[in-house]
Amino acid sequence: MKAASFDYVRAATISEACELLRADGEDIKLIAGGQSLVPMMAMRLTRPSRLVDINEIGALRFVALEDDFARIGACTRQCVVAGDDALAARVPLLRRALDWVGHTQTRNRGTLGGSLAHADPAAELPLAAQVLGARMQLRTASGTRTLSAAEFFLGPLTTALFPDECLEAIHWPVWREPRAGCAFTEVSRRHGDFAIIAACAQVALDADGRCTRAAFGLTGGGTTPLAFPALASRLVGTRLDDEVTRSVAHDAAAELDPGADLHASAAYRRHLAAVLGARVLRTAYEEAQGKP
Ligand SMILES: Cc1cc2nc3c(=O)[nH]c(=O)nc-3n(C[C@H](O)[C@H](O)[C@H](O)COP(=O)(O)OP(=O)(O)OC[C@H]3O[C@@H](n4cnc5c(N)ncnc54)[C@H](O)[C@@H]3O)c2cc1C
Repeated sequence: MKAASFDYVRAATISEACELLRADGEDIKLIAGGQSLVPMMAMRLTRPSRLVDINEIGALRFVALEDDFARIGACTRQCVVAGDDALAARVPLLRRALDWVGHTQTRNRGTLGGSLAHADPAAELPLAAQVLGARMQLRTASGTRTLSAAEFFLGPLTTALFPDECLEAIHWPVWREPRAGCAFTEVSRRHGDFAIIAACAQVALDADGRCTRAAFGLTGGGTTPLAFPALASRLVGTRLDDEVTRSVAHDAAAELDPGADLHASAAYRRHLAAVLGARVLRTAYEEAQGKP
C-alpha cells in the first residue's frame, strides 16, 4: 500500500517547527528518521495531512555531557548515540539498549527522540529511559516544559506530547559511582525485531560488593515500559545472589499484565520476564564487581 497524499514542509528552526504544528484542525506530524512514521503511513495506520521535517534543525542534533546528566538532542541519530564512546562511558545502558534496536540501516536514519515519541510498548529506548529516570524536554511555540519518563509514556504509541509540541532533548542521569554495571537483554523472534519481553538493569556496589543503588525494568508485558523502584530497593545492601534476584524478578513479572498474540502467550511472557529480569540483575552485578 502507499501513503495517502500529504503536504510536506521542511523546518529550519525549532520555533518554526512548533509554529508549523499549530495550524488548527489539521493532523500535522513531525517527521524525524521516518523509520516508524513512514511504514505506518504506508499501511494507512496514520494519515497526516502535513509532515513537518525536522532533520535540518541543527539545534536538535547534539550530545552534551554535563556532570550529572547527558543531554541529547531529540533528532540525534541512533547510530551517533551508539557510536559515542564518551557518552557510553557516562550512560552505558543507552548503547546496550541500542544493540537491540532494529538494524544498522534503521539506526542510521532513526533518531533517539523519534523512538521515544513513537512510544512503542515493545521498544528498547523507552525502557532504558524509564529505568534510568530520563527527563524529556518539550517545546511549543510559547515555552518549554520537562517531564519524567514516567509522566511522558502514557500508553501504546501514546505520550504526553501535545499536538503542537516538539521533543527537543532528553536528559539522561549519569551514575557517578565507580563500581557500577548495567545489562540489557531481550527475547524476540529474530534479532532486530521488537521485543517479546525486554529487561534491563543498572546497579552500583560499594567496595565490599554490596549494592548501594539499583534500577531495573521490563517492557513487552504491558502498555508502557515499566520500572520497579520499590522492588529494586530490596536489592540495596545485598550481594544480588540468585535467591534475591530471582525473588525480585519474580515479583516484578507478577505485576505485568501481558497480552497474548501469535508470538507468545501471556503465561510465556510472564515466565520470560522473571527469567530475563533475574539475568540482567546478575549480569549488571557481575560487571560492577569486575570494576576496581
Ligand atoms: C525494519 C525495522 C525494524 C525496527 N526494529 C526496531 C526495534 O527492534 N526496536 C525499536 O525500538 N524500534 C525499531 N524500529 C523503529 C525505529 O527504531 C525507529 O527509528 C523509531 O521508532 C522512530 O524514530 P524515527 O526517528 O525514525 O521517527 P519517525 O518515524 O520520524 O517518527 C516516529 C513518531 O515520532 C514523532 N516524532 C519524531 N520526532 C519527534 C520529536 N522530536 N518531537 C515530537 N515528535 C516526534 C513523529 O511525529 C512520529 O509520530 C524498527 C524500524 C524498522 C523499519
